[in-house]
Amino acid sequence: MHLDFSAEESAFRGEVRALISRVFPPGAPFDGSPADEARWHQALLARGWAVNKFPVAFGGPGWTAAMNFIWERETSAAGVPAQVGGMGPGMLAPVLFAFGSAEQQQRFLPGIVADTTRWCQGYSEPGAGSDLAALRTRAVREGEFYVVDGEKVWTSGAHKADWIFCLTRTATEAKRQAGITFLLIDMRSPGVTVTPIISIDGRHSFNRVTFDAVRVPVENRIGEEGQGWTYAKGLLTHERTGQAFVSLSLNLARGIRIAASTEIPGSQGDRLIDDPGFAKRLAGLEIELRALEMTELRTLWEVAAGSAPGAQSSMLKLKGTDIVQGLTELYVECAGPYAAPWFPEVDGVAEPLGPAWARREVARYLEGRAASIAGGSDEIQRNIMAKHVLKI
Ligand SMILES: Cc1cc2nc3c(=O)[nH]c(=O)nc-3n(C[C@H](O)[C@H](O)[C@H](O)COP(=O)(O)OP(=O)(O)OC[C@H]3O[C@@H](n4cnc5c(N)ncnc54)[C@H](O)[C@@H]3O)c2cc1C
Repeated sequence: MHLDFSAEESAFRGEVRALISRVFPPGAPFDGSPADEARWHQALLARGWAVNKFPVAFGGPGWTAAMNFIWERETSAAGVPAQVGGMGPGMLAPVLFAFGSAEQQQRFLPGIVADTTRWCQGYSEPGAGSDLAALRTRAVREGEFYVVDGEKVWTSGAHKADWIFCLTRTATEAKRQAGITFLLIDMRSPGVTVTPIISIDGRHSFNRVTFDAVRVPVENRIGEEGQGWTYAKGLLTHERTGQAFVSLSLNLARGIRIAASTEIPGSQGDRLIDDPGFAKRLAGLEIELRALEMTELRTLWEVAAGSAPGAQSSMLKLKGTDIVQGLTELYVECAGPYAAPWFPEVDGVAEPLGPAWARREVARYLEGRAASIAGGSDEIQRNIMAKHVLKI
């Protein structure tokens, strides 16, 4: 692991900054709208950087671990997405590279690269989350089709997705893990129903997805029948490594310093940063964040050198979650009385410490609670660490 960037890496950082400021010049930042997202994606496609984690053989730019790190930090600091396209490029594509047939790669990868096909992940079910192998959505072979019946839950983005990659049960007699099959299902298939679930932050990102005699062509099966667990498992380790939230936390910490250094409305020039208790908690989280950043860097370098992330991905996820949640709690303190859910004045400009700002930050605080569950709960991460690191 090295901490200084080489001349080439520093030059690359300059190129990244130049691209970002060409597409979103100072004063006209990325606004999160679908139009800005599409503009950014087009610029990335033109530059050959749209799918930066893809292997070169599949159109990726062949970046080193250091370049990926620079990309992640620079895009995050500028507030632009590191990758457009959600679960397609980040989660399904690695499965297609490793286990998809040549036909499946040709059929599905172009839509992921061009961001014309959006994917969602159908793993969890009522009664099968932490214990995913308990899943019961059935896929019964009938000639050249599987007939799928069952229910998935907490499916992020299903209401915007064109396809779902899904774990289904094709056998019940063998070991539970051995009877699972990985299917790709068109969300427009007759019998697929998406029902919204509104989360505590007031947003619609989750859904319940039900399958009622949905006919799925056998050619949409990844790899072999009964091997889906093996394909899905590798994916989950990588999902967790990406959940240290370091870039997000760096931005949050910077934002808190600004908010806490702003005069509290209606006070005699009081600022939260002058409260030693508050300042100590913020500094403590910032120190932990620096330590996490080093652990993340070490993991990135080890993975780049060929080792699997293993239990380290659980450590990163657990500590990263802690820090994000601690920082969002400080935001709620900054929001003061405006953090109360009944506060009526929520329109207007998001000035630091004002009501509109407070509403956004409180929503982020509430959303942050879900990080303790998504991608495997805190308790499950602790179990993994106990097994692999402490050998309990
Ligand atoms: C933001 C977010 C996005 C998500 N997106 C998706 C998605 O797109 N697709 C998808 O398929 N799923 C998604 N999920 C679901 C997620 O994977 C599950 O919620 C998670 O795996 C936990 O499962 P569960 O909700 O069934 O809880 P349970 O497994 O029922 O757990 C309940 C509680 O029991 C504890 N527990 C369970 N087993 C053990 C054990 N062995 N030891 C100690 N404690 C234990 C857990 O830690 C938890 O506190 C998402 C979840 C969140 C929060």
